Amino acid sequence: MFIGHFALGLAASRLEPRLALGTALLASQLPDAIWPYLLLTGTETVSIVPGDTAMTPLRFDSYPWSHSLLMVTLAGLALGGLYRALGGAARAAAFVGGLAVSHWFLDFMTHREDMPVLPGNDLKLGLGMWNSVPLTVTVEGLMYAGAVAFYARGRRMSLGFWILVAVLGLTYVGNVVGPPPPGVTPVALSMVLLVPIVWWWGNKVGAKAAAGA
Ligand SMILES: [Zn+2]
Repeated sequence: MFIGHFALGLAASRLEPRLALGTALLASQLPDAIWPYLLLTGTETVSIVPGDTAMTPLRFDSYPWSHSLLMVTLAGLALGGLYRALGGAARAAAFVGGLAVSHWFLDFMTHREDMPVLPGNDLKLGLGMWNSVPLTVTVEGLMYAGAVAFYARGRRMSLGFWILVAVLGLTYVGNVVGPPPPGVTPVALSMVLLVPIVWWWGNKVGAKAAAGA
């Protein structure tokens, strides 16, 4: 899943205004924020196999550290704990941890049976929504549109917010209709770049939204 994760981040930041939007988006993406570094160091592997699922040419061969249920839960606890230790409100910290853990369950819905439960264990799960492009795009599109509307409801949003919404949406569309990526390193580097940009940008436009609410 891609923009479906951001949908939960948007909703969480509106439900808990002390949780900055960019931080919420980062938390919802936490496994994907860790993953590119593990790819670049060869700790985890992915292959580009067009048609592996209808939705993505990426075949997730091994990603037990960034994407197993156990490690995602531990990473969520660590990020929520760090947020709290740095002075964040307890409820906001709970949202941070919950968003990170939600990532596994959304990926479980979309991926085929490649989602590990524990590192070093062969059990892999996935409901395979990615085998259908229309189903995936409908579900994720509705989640994203609903979350954007929920986040913006009753507030005058800045142009920067709408540009962020559009950039994420267009990135998603580009992934669906565009050619397969030229290699694993460009995939990893684009994630390395995207995550801090979304964090910074989200916090900036989220603070404006909160001030104007
Ligand atoms: Zn993921």
